Amino acid sequence: MHAVQEPQMIGNYIGGQWKAPAGGGSTPSINPARKSEIVGYVPDSQIGDLNEAVEAAEAARRSWRKLAGSQRGALLFKAADAMERRLDEIGRTMSREMGKTFAEAKGETARGVAILRYYAGEGIRKIGDVIPSTDADAFMFTTRSPLGVVGVISPWNFPVAIPVWKMAPALIYGNAVVWKPATETAVTAAKIAECFHEAGLPAGVLNMVIGGGRVIGQGIASHPGIHGVTFTGSNEVGKQIGQTALSRGAKYQLEMGGKNPIVIAADADLDLAVEATISGGLRSTGQKCTATSRVIVVRDVYEAFKEKLVSQVKALKVGDGLEASTWLGPCANEKQMETVLSYINRGKEEGAVLLCGGERPEGAELADGFYVTPAVFDRVTSGMAIAQEEIFGPVLTLIEADDFESAIGLANDTEFGLSASVYTRDIGNVLSFVHEMDAGLVRINAETAGVELQAPFGGMKQSSSHSREQGQAAIEFYTSVKTVFIKP
Ligand code: NAD
Repeated sequence: MHAVQEPQMIGNYIGGQWKAPAGGGSTPSINPARKSEIVGYVPDSQIGDLNEAVEAAEAARRSWRKLAGSQRGALLFKAADAMERRLDEIGRTMSREMGKTFAEAKGETARGVAILRYYAGEGIRKIGDVIPSTDADAFMFTTRSPLGVVGVISPWNFPVAIPVWKMAPALIYGNAVVWKPATETAVTAAKIAECFHEAGLPAGVLNMVIGGGRVIGQGIASHPGIHGVTFTGSNEVGKQIGQTALSRGAKYQLEMGGKNPIVIAADADLDLAVEATISGGLRSTGQKCTATSRVIVVRDVYEAFKEKLVSQVKALKVGDGLEASTWLGPCANEKQMETVLSYINRGKEEGAVLLCGGERPEGAELADGFYVTPAVFDRVTSGMAIAQEEIFGPVLTLIEADDFESAIGLANDTEFGLSASVYTRDIGNVLSFVHEMDAGLVRINAETAGVELQAPFGGMKQSSSHSREQGQAAIEFYTSVKTVFIKP
């Protein structure tokens, strides 16, 4: 049992200063492992606070874009160093705020450090091309300009990696940022802002305003002083943000949900496939946009795979993410827990067979947290709600396929298209999967997941819109191409 710490009072970060919201309101951020523990009080900001942040960003953006990319990069390197010094502290705070195990939380923070360093280096990479003109006297080339002020709206499930992979490219390419983190993880968010502050980022270049989605999130989407909006979160909210941004001609980028399949072929190494299904589906308590949820197994190996899977899922230790023995933490908040439990009931009503889990665990030490034991459903058909809708929790659905070809058909039978994985040693299966899967991330003998930070990340169909995130692909969103034609 960990000692309860005093709640932290968090402010907004505007124009290089920490400020209470003008209205003075605050919301508690609570520990999902023990709901009686308040991690911090975070601002319940209003539109006036957002306006102030946009003004600060507007005042800062022109001198920021005039710096050399290497000068901006030097500050990102310093922010990375600050974050690296605070890895344990940030990881621990994340674990307390949203339940992820400490190992995963620390790993995610280390990823944030690596992303900052990657984009710091982008400051001296090429941003354009020379294009031969048909006029022998002229010189024609492309360069890129920042958008101006970029609004960043981020979710609670990766409270460090996601905002950092948005803010780092926004900043390196010369934009100022107004960031609205999820209120559920705003204490963690404040620590990221502190790292940028410690690095000496000029006042107003990065601003953080904490508040409700309908007020500050919607405010960012509709604010005329914000030139581009990047969002990661649910489909319902993402579509609203996209429509609002489009209606005023602002650029937008949406990363949304997933319902990710893993296909197990008859020739798969079943032990590796089980390991990948458990890790891909249940790490972070299944609260990943790339989490495995549709487990599609070819008939020949269905029973053998199922038996191995269920015995291992039953053995997973559920508990407080800060305990070293915990494999699976709580759901991040009460609403998320209720959603998972309602899908467990829905699956039973639809005729699927619950093989294990899907319950509030026993034990006095877990009674105060938002825990659900990891669930495996058998006899699932592709059309069931549990096989189609994003649950965002520790639930695996087993779907039997006649053969490999029909397994690919089932894997594509979803409105989402983020990450898709296959376990097979047959090169013909591999090539069919690569060619036929409609997913932004296709993974062979690897679990459904994101990708290394230097590669493009994003999905197809309802999972994403427009250009990709991460790596050099991010330049597409955070800049506009300028074609220059020069005559002497
Ligand atoms: P969410 O949509 O509820 O919230 C995301 C952000 O939007 C938060 O900052 C929230 O405060 C804000 N918001 C909420 N309502 C809003 C509104 N009406 N207008 C403007 N902003 C609003 O999502 P969540 O519950 O925080 O995160 C879980 C979702 O995120 C899942 O659907 C998951 O798949 C998705 N996700 C996607 C990716 C990806 O890269 N594709 C990565 C992580 C999470």
